[in-house]
Amino acid sequence: MDAHFRALGELLVALRDALEADSVAYTLVERVLKEQYKEEAGIWVLRPVREVSADSLQSPHDVEATFRVKNGHAYPGGYVVNVSETCDAENALQLITDIQVAPNVTDDGELLRQSVDKQLERGLEVKNIVTDGGYNGPDTEEFCKKNDITHRPTNIRGGKSAKDRLGWEMYQWQLNKEGIPVAVVCPRGQKGQIRPGRKEERWLVRFADASTCQTCPLLDQCRVVLQKQNGPAMRVTTRSIQVALLRQRLCPEDRSLRSPVEATVRSLKWGLRKDKLPVRGQVAAVMYFTTVALMVNLRRIHAYLVESEGFSDTTAAFVTLFYWLLAKIRLLQRRQTNSVAIPGPRAYFRFFFESVALSLFSPATEML
Ligand code: SF4
Repeated sequence: MDAHFRALGELLVALRDALEADSVAYTLVERVLKEQYKEEAGIWVLRPVREVSADSLQSPHDVEATFRVKNGHAYPGGYVVNVSETCDAENALQLITDIQVAPNVTDDGELLRQSVDKQLERGLEVKNIVTDGGYNGPDTEEFCKKNDITHRPTNIRGGKSAKDRLGWEMYQWQLNKEGIPVAVVCPRGQKGQIRPGRKEERWLVRFADASTCQTCPLLDQCRVVLQKQNGPAMRVTTRSIQVALLRQRLCPEDRSLRSPVEATVRSLKWGLRKDKLPVRGQVAAVMYFTTVALMVNLRRIHAYLVESEGFSDTTAAFVTLFYWLLAKIRLLQRRQTNSVAIPGPRAYFRFFFESVALSLFSPATEML
């Protein structure tokens, strides 16, 4: 097998040398060589799997797609789709507010920050964000704090304590104004002082009353170590404290607000066979999902007009179309203000026909 891959490597080198250096094909072959092979004493040998990055080229037709293993399942050559929608219980109508398509190795927290940034730029008011556990992390927390947004995760990934130990979230952590941990109260109510540890991001907690600990029924599970000279103490990292604080802020009661987004994801994937896109490339994938998301929104507006406002089916369809056109015109005007493009009357006609075509041919139309 090694000889076979070596021969393939030589073939790739010969192919690269035969191509023009500024061509797309050259770039792709060069990329495959660098990502999958390494040169050892003039021979190109295949890299071991652990040395091949997840963002290595998966297909010459889809250069942005990446490789991801999640829950033991491999997703080669794929994208991740992230969707945001309104979820205020008082809204009569919930709408998709953003859709993102990114290489499938993109971190969920990064997607959240990019999406909320974009939505704030568009003038949307974001006060609370309800997510599952994949979106938390120090960067997300800092981002939400900076933008005065409350992040309400319904669960949290990682950072779980062993079953026979007290979780860090069982302790009450006190931080000063700068966010530096200064004190902690244990589950039995004993207060401990926190001091910086010998290494960065590590802290030492000291409790004054050794006798309370010695008779404490939680001693076996507690994080505390009874030191002969210095009394009860425990060591903790900054991240453990951050995760503990986040766990204390979990909002499982918001699960009912978050779960409808799963149905939205199913709506977005409705036209796909085994989650396979009918298009290639990130740009085409973005266009595909944006169109489908638009149709999901139009469908919701239409249903709202019929059910809540008592419109007939046809009137509701026209009103929906009218509002969509209005939104497109506002978008054009904004572009005009930003000197991106100056639309003429033709553009407005194009949008009208576009909307009709969209209604007829969008993959989401069948859901209507
Ligand atoms: S062992 Fe000491 S520090 Fe731990 S819970 Fe009991 S009293 Fe608190």
